[in-house]
Amino acid sequence: MNVAFLGLGAIGAPMARHVASRFPTAVWNRTTARAKAFSEQHGARAATTPRDAARGADVVITCLPTSREVEQLLDGDDGLMAGMERGATLVDCTSGDPTTSQRIAQRLAPSARYFVDAPVSGGVSGAEQGSLTIMCGGSEADLTRVRPVLEAFGKKIVLCGGVGAGHAVKAVNQALLGVHLYAAAEGLAALAKAGVSPTLALEVINASSGRCNATENLIPQRVLTRAFPRTFRLALLEKDMGIAAAFARTEGVPAPVLQLTTELYRAARRELGEEADHVEIAKVVERESGTEIRG
Ligand code: NDP
Repeated sequence: MNVAFLGLGAIGAPMARHVASRFPTAVWNRTTARAKAFSEQHGARAATTPRDAARGADVVITCLPTSREVEQLLDGDDGLMAGMERGATLVDCTSGDPTTSQRIAQRLAPSARYFVDAPVSGGVSGAEQGSLTIMCGGSEADLTRVRPVLEAFGKKIVLCGGVGAGHAVKAVNQALLGVHLYAAAEGLAALAKAGVSPTLALEVINASSGRCNATENLIPQRVLTRAFPRTFRLALLEKDMGIAAAFARTEGVPAPVLQLTTELYRAARRELGEEADHVEIAKVVERESGTEIRG
């Protein structure tokens, strides 16, 4: 199977590395230097345009910030629509939105080209280890065809429903991450102000019913240590929460917790900028509380 991979960002690059080690692969990136460096290191063909990348590919993978950028890559003389072969499948690993994905699938279908949304979870480290969870939307036949390529970087691959279902599940997962992280930081800030050690508090919480990824991993490893590594941009989490909030509204679910937390992340994005990591939301809580959550 020939594969094209477009979008060599923080998570796209390690995913593409696994693909290129198993399949003949063409890579394309908006900043050309990244694609060139990747091709020199990993033996993939550096394509000059999205159209050039899609040429001869059975599977075309995109991993871009939002569905908007994916849809923009379709059009024009150099776009994916001009390059994708009949029978090829576009697999979108972007954490995108269900409605745009359904529109893209509809545009591809008349020329016998297929679409699977396949956002991932597990972070950059999961991508490096090839152990991502992949939540898919599309037909069973389409997923079966592309599954060997997804297995290059994914361990748990689940068909969630028709086109858009993968993006919807991913958005809800991200909303939970955002809500848990914010709520955990609020609680720990209050405890720190009352003189309770955040380290001790987390020891208790992580042996109790309030534990979550934020309390078990993110806060101990990144906040208590003050390390705040940049692995997943807060701007992307805010985007994901916006997708989840819009999805809930479309489905007629009021979801006040989700709507409010999304607003809080939107304000934090304005305050911290486009490059801040998602865990830096704790800094906003700290500033508002007049305390630090230290180990
Ligand atoms: P990055 O910001 O690191 O990379 C974004 C990529 O998209 C880069 O290759 C960038 O190119 C490209 N890009 C940006 N704008 C455009 C555009 N207008 N046209 C074409 N290409 C563009 O993002 P990540 O790799 O972190 O995330 C990618 C997707 O994966 C997002 O949807 C994110 O939510 C999701 N995700 C990320 C995780 C993570 O831990 N990082 C975890 C799970 C999902 P250039 O090099 O030119 O800037």
